[in-house]
Parts: sequence; C-alpha cells; structure tokens
Amino acid sequence: MSERLVILGAGESGVGTAILGLAKGFDVFVSDLGTIKEHYRSELVKREISFEEGVHTAEKILNAKLVMKSPGIPDHAPIVQELRSRQIPVISEIEFAARYTSAKMICITGSNGKTTTTNLTYEILKRGGIDVAMAGNVGKSFAWMVAEEDHSHYVIELSSFQLDGMVDFKADIAVLMNITPDHLDRYQYEMQHYVDAKFRIIRNQTASDVFIYFADDAVIAREIAKREIVSKTLPFSLGSELHSDGAKLVQDEINLQYNNHSFNMSIYDLALQGKHNTCNSMAAAIVGKVSGIRNEFIRECLSDFRGVEHRLEKYLTIHGVDFINDSKATNINSAWYALESMTRPVVWIVGGIDKGNDYNELAELVRTKVKAIVCLGKDNSKIISAFSGLVADMVETQSMEHAVKSAHFLSEPGDVVLLSPACASFDLFNNYEDRGQQFKTAVRNL
Ligand code: ADP
Repeated sequence: MSERLVILGAGESGVGTAILGLAKGFDVFVSDLGTIKEHYRSELVKREISFEEGVHTAEKILNAKLVMKSPGIPDHAPIVQELRSRQIPVISEIEFAARYTSAKMICITGSNGKTTTTNLTYEILKRGGIDVAMAGNVGKSFAWMVAEEDHSHYVIELSSFQLDGMVDFKADIAVLMNITPDHLDRYQYEMQHYVDAKFRIIRNQTASDVFIYFADDAVIAREIAKREIVSKTLPFSLGSELHSDGAKLVQDEINLQYNNHSFNMSIYDLALQGKHNTCNSMAAAIVGKVSGIRNEFIRECLSDFRGVEHRLEKYLTIHGVDFINDSKATNINSAWYALESMTRPVVWIVGGIDKGNDYNELAELVRTKVKAIVCLGKDNSKIISAFSGLVADMVETQSMEHAVKSAHFLSEPGDVVLLSPACASFDLFNNYEDRGQQFKTAVRNL
C-alpha cells in the first residue's frame, strides 16, 4: 500500500506537490477549504488525483502519513492543530520537493527584498550559463518543476511561512536580507517567533554551505551573536567597516571579496537605485561570485536589470512629473526605503490596511521629502494624525482614480508621484498587483 500524502490547499504549491507526490508513488489526496481555481482543478482532474473543495473532511485527512500545508494556511487552523495533536508530520512544499532533487538550493528570505533579490540572482546565474530556475512565491512551484523539469540549481524565494514547515531541508546558499516586523499576527505578536522562523533558513547547514546576510540589520546582528553558525558567513554592509569576506561600500563602490576573488562596481552603474537595492544587488552579486560566475556577467546583470513590476517601478512621466508604482510596499520598512531613495519632491499616495504600523518611523523622511500626502484607504486616521503637522497638503481618497487625479493636481513639473502604501491592499483592492495595475491605468488616463 502506498503512503497517504494529504495536501492542504490546491494552489500553485499544493497542486505542484500533488503532481510530484503522484510521480513518487504516494496515495495523494488534496483538500481545499475554499474554491479551487479552474486551472488547478483541471490539472487535478486530468491527472486523476482525488480532491475535495469547500470542506476539509477529517476522515480523509487524519489518516495521512504525511501532510503538506500550503503557506497561506495558518498554523492555528483547526485541521492543522488536529494533525499536530496526532503527531502527523505537517511540512511545506519546499521541504517535500527538496527530498526528490539533488539540485543546488539558493534560498532567499527577509522581510523585504526577497522577490527583487531572487530575480537578480536568477539573472546572474542564468547569464553565467547555469541551468537554473526560480521558484517559491514566483511563477511555477518548486515541486511542480522537480516533478516535470528538474534543474541543476534553484533560486527559491522563501517566506517565513514556508520556512516554518522546513525540517530536513538545507540551503546550500542561504540569503537573509533583513528582519523587520511583519506578519506578526501569524506569530502570536512575538517578534522572536518571527525572527526564529527567518533563521530557519540556515537550519541543517554545514561548514561547506554559505550564509549571506545584511550585517547592518540590528536584529540579524543580535541574533548572529547569540547563535553558533557553522556555515561560511558572507555579510554585506552599506558601510565600509567589514573586514571579512563579503561585500561593503567604499566611496560609493561595491567592494566584494570572496576567497581571494574580488568584484567592484560603482553604485551609480546599478540598474536599481536606492540603498535597499544596493543591498539586493550586493546579495545577488555574492551568490554570483560563490557560484563562480565571471565578473563581467555579474556587472552586466546588475546594470541591465529591468526591475520587477510594482517595486519602485517608474511607470510614466507626465508634464515633467514621474509616476512611480511601489504598490508592493506593504509595510513601513519598504515605504521607508522608497521615500529614502527619492531625490525630488514627493506627492505620496499612502494607506490601506495597516498591520500595526508605527508611522513615526517615517516622520523625518516625510518632513524632508514629502510635499503632499494623498491617503488611499478606508480608514486613514492614523496616517492623518501622524503626518498632518508635517506636510502642507493632505487629502483623503477612496479610489485609485481619485487618488491619482488628486496627486496630479498637487504636483508640479520636477515632482514625483509615489504610490508606496506602507499597508496591505485588501480594503479597496484584490491584492497589491490589482492596486498597482489600477494605479497605472489611472495614470494612463490622466
Ligand atoms: P518581498 O518579496 O520581500 O516582498 P520585494 O522585492 O517584492 O520584496 O519588494 C517589496 C517592497 O520592498 C518594495 O516596495 C521594494 O521597493 C522594497 N524593497 C526591496 N528591497 C528592499 C530591501 N532590501 N529593504 C527594504 N525594502 C526593500
């Protein structure tokens, strides 16, 4: 009798796991409490994988030998609690799929910058001729690829939720971009639980593995001082003090050292501007060097990279005003970096669902860089009380069209209109992509 693999959630990672599980001889059952998207349902039907939707039937789930929980399902979901109380292992898609490939794993996590750094790293390795694929939150799921088109290297973007379900998984190269408060609702509002989840990225690493991290991040630095880390550590820093291998900034030049190899590049030649993007570029360049990629390829990629949609995406210039779509800035830290990187007066579109934001952290940047604020959310009261004394003009809106028109009205040639909401989007939009698309549509219609 084959072992029963139950998969909770029939999205990209769930269906990918089902396909891989089937190929590896499991008795697969997929259960989704919601409605399964048509595309995924037809994949399951086509492959004769049994599934249910709109319900979790206990008898069909609790007889599992192994359970894969999709990252969107919280640990406190009753069915997950029930599985745990019966000591049935509940793992993540990445944990499951990694058991069936011998590929090199390059894993990128952090509160912000994961997608950008994952893309940059992927481009560098690809340009260097490596058989590499991107997985995680982007595109096709890792499990699906392992099942149907395995590669020699994967660059995987890992959220803390995916890391939570990792047991035996090991990253050959682990990258930790930063740790700032986010998703605390899923971690009992305990920052340390979230920090521990992020640090699972180095779990099981050995002396021959590599750990790349942002040395200037106080939370990371404190945690590293507490832990015994066996992997080779390669920090990156925006300062010039670093004395070990890794990357630092010396007079606006990235200075990277790794095993007697070096790589240098002026930050002005980077395609992605702003301090946060210098971090992302440094992290990706270190992975490139560790993977043996030639400097010229790394330089080309870092200077040609076209960016990822909705991340400080310079969309259009209208009457001398730049319209920038940073809809993916869903927390304070990412909005901080967006404002920090602005060199012209900013009309700032901000607001949405606040995940416990402390707006005071942005006060100084708002005072020096922002000339007007357009609030775009159902409840803007916290934003209004935090900034009303700091900017000349402030308006409230509840539609993107109105927000963009107001911002346009408040701007003059030489200004920037920046959508960098510092909040989740679900009060007025389906998701951050929808918010970014609506922004671009409204700008086009001006
Ligand atoms: P993630 O995948 O971790 O959400 P993204 O690359 O999608 O990260 O970027 C999310 C937001 O954070 C964007 O607004 C982006 O401009 C900003 N950002 C990107 N890199 C960093 C970084 N290293 N530190 C802080 N903010 C960043």
